Amino acid sequence: MIKVRFAPSPTGFLHVGNARVALINWLFAKVKGGHFILRFDDTDVERSKPEYVEAIRRDLAWLGLGWDVEEFQSARLQRYQAAAEKLKADGRLYPCYETPEELEFKRKLQLSRRQPPVYDRAALKLSDTDRAKLASEGRRPHWRFKLSEGRVSWNDQARHHDITIDLSSVSDPVLLREDGSFLYTLPSVVDDIEMGITHVIRGEDHITNAGVQIDLAAALGAAPPAYAHLSLLIDASGKGFSKREGSASLQEIRENGIEALTLCAYLARLGSPHAPEPISCLDELVKGFDLASFSHATPHVDVAEVNRLNARLLHHLSFGAVKDRLGLAEADEAFWLGIRGNLQKLSDAKPWWDILHRPVTPVIEDAGFTEAAADLLPGEPWDETTWSAFTNAVKAATGRSGKALFHPLRLALTGQEQGPEMKSLLPQIGRRRALARLKGETA
Ligand code: GLU
Repeated sequence: MIKVRFAPSPTGFLHVGNARVALINWLFAKVKGGHFILRFDDTDVERSKPEYVEAIRRDLAWLGLGWDVEEFQSARLQRYQAAAEKLKADGRLYPCYETPEELEFKRKLQLSRRQPPVYDRAALKLSDTDRAKLASEGRRPHWRFKLSEGRVSWNDQARHHDITIDLSSVSDPVLLREDGSFLYTLPSVVDDIEMGITHVIRGEDHITNAGVQIDLAAALGAAPPAYAHLSLLIDASGKGFSKREGSASLQEIRENGIEALTLCAYLARLGSPHAPEPISCLDELVKGFDLASFSHATPHVDVAEVNRLNARLLHHLSFGAVKDRLGLAEADEAFWLGIRGNLQKLSDAKPWWDILHRPVTPVIEDAGFTEAAADLLPGEPWDETTWSAFTNAVKAATGRSGKALFHPLRLALTGQEQGPEMKSLLPQIGRRRALARLKGETA
């Protein structure tokens, strides 16, 4: 069974780039009939916060990306401890005592000698006596994983070619901090193995990590999952998105009136050769989803395009899809169908409801004309044919046509220069209000 995971650290709000990774994992699971696991990488106790866990759940639920299983790394520390013990016993996890300042000094020295800034494994040369001395001085070790010699390669499922990492160009990664807490690397490998993750789909900022993690999986006697590294997104100014800066958070996007479906439709196509199209449910994205269709180029998020897609999507959404979110208990399907073609955001609907059902002060351009038109309003019942019957009568009586005919009527009836088609609005305004407004009265 195909199993993927979305593994945010609950240290901030999800941004548009995280949403894309989550969505692509979800789509991959759906298209393969697999499982989508939500894993909170919360081993960093200082920065992980319950409110971010809540916010991440809320954002994923908003996007419509349901998960099959939820996991917390903080609940699995014993597993990581066991893996660390095995690595220690095998001589693959070794204690280091350098302070951050010492490491920084070494790094600068290497750079000045034009050497790559790779950790020199000095700690491996410490004798038992050296270590005992350091311990007696109160120094506590952090622990590094001893990488294998040579290279690791994998066929990256999103890059369509082999990626090779020369492990000699990478510092032995620190797996455990001085205080005994785990960095992300080992827990992630242990979880991916124990949870049976078949595909790790994530941002390309983790490519070097993949090299390390493949080596780590081998040291734990397991086969690594397949990897797919997606290009990172940038904004219009060429900047990346980051959780810390809280840029383009999903919360902000939601508050700006972008529909979850819009964002998913956009992100599922961004960086692929297919233009985003409006959808009415996420399942439409599952058909034909192909991980291999994403290019290596860095896709940029075009806010204007997202807004245009949002409007196009709203223009086709059914009443059932929006009913509970309109904030208008009395609104019916006729109202929605009448105005949806004019919306940029769902929140634009309410002002139209008010125009149709609450008092409006008409804008009168030519009182003589609109008053004459008032006398020509047909009797009720009204339907979608009433507007054309009415305007034909006004045309015949006044000789006006085109803008000179329609514009003053719209202004008087709605108080607005523009809007949805009058043939849908007029029956909802109703004869009593229409008559009064054409006569210049607030009604
Ligand atoms: N917690 C890591 C992150 O948020 C997960 C990376 C991964 O998918 O392995 O970047």
